[in-house]
Amino acid sequence: RAKREGRARVRFFESEMDQELRDRRLLQHDLRQALEQNQLLVHFQPQARMDGEVVGFEALLRWNHPTRGFVAPDQFIPLAEENGLIIQIGEWVLREACREAVSWPRPLPVAVNLSPVQFQAGDLERSIHQILLETGLAPTRLEVEITEGVLIGDFTRALNLLRRLKALGIRIAMDDFGTGYSSLSYLQSFPFDKIKIDRSFISNLEASPQSAEIVRAVLSLARALNIPVVAEGVETEAQRAFLAGEACDEMQGYLIGRPEPIERYLDLIGITVERRRYA
Ligand code: C2E
Ligand code: MG
Ligand code: MG
Ligand code: MG
Repeated sequence: RAKREGRARVRFFESEMDQELRDRRLLQHDLRQALEQNQLLVHFQPQARMDGEVVGFEALLRWNHPTRGFVAPDQFIPLAEENGLIIQIGEWVLREACREAVSWPRPLPVAVNLSPVQFQAGDLERSIHQILLETGLAPTRLEVEITEGVLIGDFTRALNLLRRLKALGIRIAMDDFGTGYSSLSYLQSFPFDKIKIDRSFISNLEASPQSAEIVRAVLSLARALNIPVVAEGVETEAQRAFLAGEACDEMQGYLIGRPEPIERYLDLIGITVERRRYA
């Protein structure tokens, strides 16, 4: 009996795995059409100084699936990386973000996330250069966010690419700092313009003395290296107050604003609603 049950259980797992695999294939298939059928969009989340003054925006990709509704980036970006579609999608996000930012009356910077796959394949430098020319956005207004995944793999190639992007005037931010294996060692290999402390440390600030100490340590290290720090996922005034007390430079999170269509932030980018209305 035990044997039969065991076999049934194995079959159950197998069929569950099949189901999962089928679902991934299905989503992957749908993703190919998403670009052509305008199902992708870019939302923007404000980044602010500790006093709340908004100083820039991060572009975050959204997929409005025809039957599933909004699918989270964490669910479809890995799929797009798997089949290489992230290269096209990544270029699209970049173009959208630059096109949008160039129309803002206030020349605030815009940050775009880049996938490790975009570094490995294709001609990222050329396509970024091309998009900047095409949209007319000043390179100094573009910031790219990378995770340590970019530096795993062909380290030298990635490093050279980052150097060339930086030489164009583009700023490079290290995203999700503290979550990888070698966050610290990457700080000595490249002069990052910004460090983004991962949300997990910020959301644990109140509950965990360890997180608070880690945040303090990252801030003091970054200060010694002269690299500005952005705290990700700031949701409460208590978190903001702690970070301000520790001289964190900037913050991003629901406390300031969620990722939204840029129309919701017209006043912050220098277009007053009145001007829009009567233009
Ligand atoms: P990320 O680059 O670290 O982006 C920050 C994520 O934290 C976003 O999730 C944002 O919505 C979320 N977030 C911001 N503030 C708060 C907060 O106060 N509380 C909570 N709970 N969450 C907050 P999102 O938009 O779901 O994106 C997840 C990840 O997907 C991003 O993490 C990034 O790694 C990736 N991603 C998003 N757009 C793109 C893209 O265009 N290209 C690539 N390659 N990756 C992208
Ligand atoms: Mg990011
Ligand atoms: Mg992050
Ligand atoms: Mg992330």
